[in-house]
Amino acid sequence: MESIKAHTAVIGAGASGLCAAISAARHLRKQGNHGKVIILEQAHKAGRKLLATGNGRCNLTNENLSIQSFHGDMKIADSVFSRCGFAEITDFFLSLGLLTRTDDAGRVYPYSNRSDTVLSTLLLACKKYGIEIITDFTAIDIERSVHELKIISEGNIVSASQVIIACGSKAGKGLGTGLGYRLLDKLGVPYSPLFSSLTSIEVSENIKRLKGIRVRGEVSLIADGKGIKSESGEIQFTDTALSGICVFNLSRYAGEFFRLNTVNGSSCKDISIKIDLMPEFSFTEKCAILSGRKKAFSEASAAELLSGIIDSRLAEYISGRVNAKIVNDSTIKRLANELSSMNFTPVKSDKIDNAQVTAGGVTSRSLDLNTLALKSDSRIRLCGELLDVDGDCGGYNLSFAWASGMIAGGLYRGVST
Ligand SMILES: Cc1cc2nc3c(=O)[nH]c(=O)nc-3n(C[C@H](O)[C@H](O)[C@H](O)COP(=O)(O)OP(=O)(O)OC[C@H]3O[C@@H](n4cnc5c(N)ncnc54)[C@H](O)[C@@H]3O)c2cc1C
Repeated sequence: MESIKAHTAVIGAGASGLCAAISAARHLRKQGNHGKVIILEQAHKAGRKLLATGNGRCNLTNENLSIQSFHGDMKIADSVFSRCGFAEITDFFLSLGLLTRTDDAGRVYPYSNRSDTVLSTLLLACKKYGIEIITDFTAIDIERSVHELKIISEGNIVSASQVIIACGSKAGKGLGTGLGYRLLDKLGVPYSPLFSSLTSIEVSENIKRLKGIRVRGEVSLIADGKGIKSESGEIQFTDTALSGICVFNLSRYAGEFFRLNTVNGSSCKDISIKIDLMPEFSFTEKCAILSGRKKAFSEASAAELLSGIIDSRLAEYISGRVNAKIVNDSTIKRLANELSSMNFTPVKSDKIDNAQVTAGGVTSRSLDLNTLALKSDSRIRLCGELLDVDGDCGGYNLSFAWASGMIAGGLYRGVST
């Protein structure tokens, strides 16, 4: 068995781990310490998930970064972003010479529009600071003695003075692993229940015939009759589920409901999804539009009335739901009602492996928030998705990976550094 010594060992060469390693090297050099920083990665290559982000474009942060776009343990999110927000994340990438561009929604991408630019920049920075990346190294345990920490894998042992655990989550088909949680189990570090976020939501209605339809609208999640969150944008229908970014942004509430029978931490008996297909128009205006079409085409069926306004397959589906044999004023009201609040019953959210993000993780109860070190052992710090913080779609999850990585690496600490 080979034994390697380092000052700081980072477990995981993903977004937060690469950022934590670079930050740790910078922090050490600032203190005149030339100790070795090493990254241990179970895969054959670094940053595989990073390459898949943003459909290969990597939405690396968002100009509108604010705590409102995050969920989970808000003590961690608050503490991290109050010290390391959009300006600090941008500075970090600016300091690496990464050119970016921002779209109308504030989403920041590399100027190249390619995620490999972000990864290669981070790897170049690792090279500059002499950070060694050991691949095919699965950390299975950390042995702790007074003098050092030993990171154990099947073939090698790495000894270090401090360890940063940046193992990420299970999310992402073929990209996530549950290995970080196994390591936490070994160390006796508890974590809150895990569930999927940023994923599609399966519904009980038979929507097979809507497969492939994309419509713009407003989608809302209702819990025990109360509106929890509404999102506007493109809604996609699969053969069994509702999908699209706006649905993704509601999925963590469905995930929480199915995992814990709560929504936003409060117990909940029932959730539903409501879609407004014409949010620009009030119910009365929708009735007037439909009545106008009825006037123009007095013989038209319910589906024909709708098909001049919305996708014809959706029009057929809605007229089936309304079950209208004849079209009269009452039918028009029922059709307008469907256009305003088409109801769906969620039966499950997609499993974590298919989701973009895992909600749940290590909570502030186990952490010194200033350093993101374990309260039980200040030499072990954590960052990234392993922590109980998840964000909306739009560059927020990577923002948390970078920001928590910088803090775990030793930058942007509060008073007690
Ligand atoms: C398809 C997809 C698209 C996404 N797009 C975006 C986007 O555009 N913008 C955005 O903000 N977020 C996006 N996300 C979310 C974002 O990628 C994650 O939140 C982020 O990568 C988390 O960073 P991390 O460092 O915690 O984990 P990861 O990036 O997953 O890195 C963890 C690393 O640790 C390694 N590892 C795990 N266990 C061990 C072990 N025991 N020993 C050694 N190595 C180990 C893993 O192999 C991995 O390389 C996307 C996610 C997916 C799945």
